This record gives sequence, C-alpha cells and structure tokens, in this order.
Amino acid sequence: MGLPPQLSAEERIAALEKAKYSRQIRAAVKAKVKTGELTLADVFKQAESDLIVGKMRVADLLAALNGVGKIRSSAIMERLKISSTRRIQGLGKHQIAALIAEFVPGNTRGKLLVLSGPGGVGKSTIAAYIRKHQTFWVSVSSTTRKPRPNEKDGVDYYFLSDKEFDDEIAKNHFLEWAHFAGARYGTPREAVEKVLSTGTNVLLEIEIEGAKQVKAHSPEAILVFLEPPSWEELVSRLERRATDSEQRRAERLALAQEELAAASFFDHRLINDRVENVVQKLLSLASAH
Ligand code: 5GP
Repeated sequence: MGLPPQLSAEERIAALEKAKYSRQIRAAVKAKVKTGELTLADVFKQAESDLIVGKMRVADLLAALNGVGKIRSSAIMERLKISSTRRIQGLGKHQIAALIAEFVPGNTRGKLLVLSGPGGVGKSTIAAYIRKHQTFWVSVSSTTRKPRPNEKDGVDYYFLSDKEFDDEIAKNHFLEWAHFAGARYGTPREAVEKVLSTGTNVLLEIEIEGAKQVKAHSPEAILVFLEPPSWEELVSRLERRATDSEQRRAERLALAQEELAAASFFDHRLINDRVENVVQKLLSLASAH
C-alpha cells in the first residue's frame, strides 16, 4: 500500500464527514434489510448506481439479514466461494444470483442429509432403496474407479478418467471430494444446489472425509453415521463381496476399523438393522431439523 495522501485540514474534515455519511447510509441499509423493508435483490440493484452501497462488505450485509448472523453468513459465503472481504460491487452475476436464491423470502431450502459410515455397512443399499422410492433426491457421484459389471454411467456414478476428475476439481465443480481405496470420489455441486433450492431434500451417500468437508461448508447439513449391528456382521458383509479381490477386502476391513472410530463426529448414529427402519429414521431426522 502506498503512503496516504497529504491532506489539508479542510480536506481531512471533508474526508471524515464523507466517511461518517457513508457509515450512516450503510447502517440505514442494514436496518432496512433487517426489518425486511429491503431485500438482498433491492440492495444489489441499489449498489449498481450507489457507490456507498456498492462498497459495503457482503459479509456485513448478510449478517444484517434477520436470523442470519455472522457465523451463518460466513459459512454461506465460504460455501458459495465468496471471499470474506468481498464488497458488493465486486460480486459476479452468478454469485449475486446464488445469494438471492439462498434468501428468497419463504423459500425453504431442502435439507441436505449426508449418510456415511464404514465401507460395507450397507449405505449403498439404503441409497438404492431411497432412490427407488424417491424418499429423497439422491445425488449421483463422480468417481475415478472402474465401473463394476452391473453399473451404469450416469446412474450409479459418473465414471471419469483421472484427467477429467482433475478438471472438475480445478473448476470447483465438487461440493466435496475424497480419496477412497485407491480411487477418487466427488459430489457434483451444481445438481445438489439446484435441487436443494427447489425445496427438495437431498441425500449424499459418501465416505467419512467427504462428510466432514460437507459439514465444514454447510453446517446445516444433517450428518448421519450408519453403524453395523455388530463388528462381526460388518466382517461377514465384507467377506460376501464377490466383486472385491482378497487383498481389496482385507484393505477395506482395516479401513472400516478406522472409520468406525469417526462416529462421534456425526450428528446422528443409526444402526443398519433393516433398510425400512433406517429410511424411516432418516425421514424423521429430516422433518425434525
Ligand atoms: P464404492 O466404490 O463401493 O461404490 O464406494 C466406495 C466408497 O465411496 C463408499 O464408502 C461410498 O460411500 C463412497 N462415495 C461414493 N460417492 C462418494 C462421493 O461423492 N464422495 C465421497 N467422499 N465418497 C463417496
């Protein structure tokens, strides 16, 4: 930063007056946003022709919204990849649209449920049941692993090459992504955001590292850890996996042991006794939150 300009006494007084005036204008805007007299869309419109409003920090504006506050506003900005110091005039048009969609009055976003747990616990069976019965909209992940014989591209996963996966990461197209058993898996962000904004509940069936990333960006997400009825049961489920090689099964078992230890991070723990029971409980969690 260069040196501040040399100002005469009059100029200093004028600058202070101007700063005071700007603060008053911004405080008035925030007060109107709080009462609902101005919507975010109104403020963004005003900022196009009013430099004082244009220079307001986005974080301050969001925090002024009724019921939002500093913590939620910074979580939302992080999720939408907006720098915490960004001013309104520096927002891109997609960011403006995303912020407006986030706070449309009366627009209740769908709930984001994250189902996680050790490999072999039966998450994918639950997800398949939910998909079939359309209890929630189930996200289709991208992965670099090869398709299994019965799997279809675009239905079970989007099967990507390493290069394609790298490109998706570079374009910030994943809500979260993680390594698992020698491959990479990621949740496509746009589809999830779109469905949530229509008020539909979304289920992600993902491994634990990814679940933690989701929670960091979207604290309102409901994290559910699926547990096996017993360790023995988990071992026998992994043993039954005909599609895995001997070495892969042993690796998955070792990993499952580590993964079980992560249960305490989750908002809720459910025992996978019967698919219908688990789905019922997921429904109650979504409506209770
Ligand atoms: P599989 O290869 O058996 O289909 O899945 C292996 C693991 O990857 C499972 O634990 C599954 O939940 C997880 N997984 C599937 N999709 C995603 C995703 O988009 N993100 C993350 N982090 N994990 C995923």
